[in-house]
Amino acid sequence: MIPIKRLPAPDVLARNGERWRTAFLEERAKDPQKRPSSKRYAHPDIVSTLEAMSHHKCFYCEQSTKQTRREVDHYIDVAEDPARAFAWANLYLSCWECNRQKQPHRSIPVTDCLDPCAPDARPSEHLTFEEELIRARGGSARGLATIKKYKLDRDDLDLKRMKQLQLFNKALIRIKDAQIADGRKNMNENEKALLRTFCHPEFPFSLMFQAHLERHDL
Ligand SMILES: [Zn+2]
Repeated sequence: MIPIKRLPAPDVLARNGERWRTAFLEERAKDPQKRPSSKRYAHPDIVSTLEAMSHHKCFYCEQSTKQTRREVDHYIDVAEDPARAFAWANLYLSCWECNRQKQPHRSIPVTDCLDPCAPDARPSEHLTFEEELIRARGGSARGLATIKKYKLDRDDLDLKRMKQLQLFNKALIRIKDAQIADGRKNMNENEKALLRTFCHPEFPFSLMFQAHLERHDL
């Protein structure tokens, strides 16, 4: 998870959101189980705006949504607050696995977790990594709750993070080889810049690489 800056609401939502909300609340008054239409809250323009905000990554786990099914997630669950079913600030982009994990972990309120869209979101203060394994930084309660709610320590994510980490480790080995060949003690600026690309926001699992770069003093 990294901080996400929200773009303005897409036109389709700005124009129709209020009407969709009223109609949905009326339907919900008759049928409390009624779900909002995904054709509306997951309209292609809404999805593409959310993708632009996150560089096509899940807001929670940072895996690329180009390689997995992505969904529009209601940050505050519809069951909890139906009035926010079409509220722009409540729509997040999630991989289907993170979204699915929210259900069995409903008892953990989102207010106990890290919110990637909060203006003061600083996930790096609460989450860190040992190799590909996610940890709550310094035992952060917020970090722990976030890992648990979205099950960010699940096996499929460990495997995907491990593969990305292999790319980083290979680059590091090549750099060390070049240092030995040139008789240099330190990395040059180009080499440092190359390693830093891994923690650019558009790179999958960039928070993990921030933690690794810190360890390498980069
Ligand atoms: Zn995810």
